[in-house]
Amino acid sequence: MTVRMRHTSGHTKNRRSHHSLTAPRLSRCSDCGSFHLRHRACEVCGKYKSRPVIDVATRIEKKNERKKAKLKMLGKDPSEKPKKEKITALNPEKLSKKAK
Ligand SMILES: [Zn+2]
Repeated sequence: MTVRMRHTSGHTKNRRSHHSLTAPRLSRCSDCGSFHLRHRACEVCGKYKSRPVIDVATRIEKKNERKKAKLKMLGKDPSEKPKKEKITALNPEKLSKKAK
């Protein structure tokens, strides 16, 4: 076995002193009030600096389609109501830039 360089517990601790994780920087959306990453569009209402940039309605539709396809693949009834809705306060048609 090769002889390695001296390795002390102090060396290990010094190396690991840089391994701590930092919390992501969050700020509140000026339109809906939910948290979003800085310099990123709000995932809930799809706006960046009060300007719509993401079409939330089509995104929700696509998600529902994918969910339906998955349920169909698993052999479950897709017409069954899901137990919990994530976004209930926001109306996707109201937020969509296509609807205007
Ligand atoms: Zn928002």
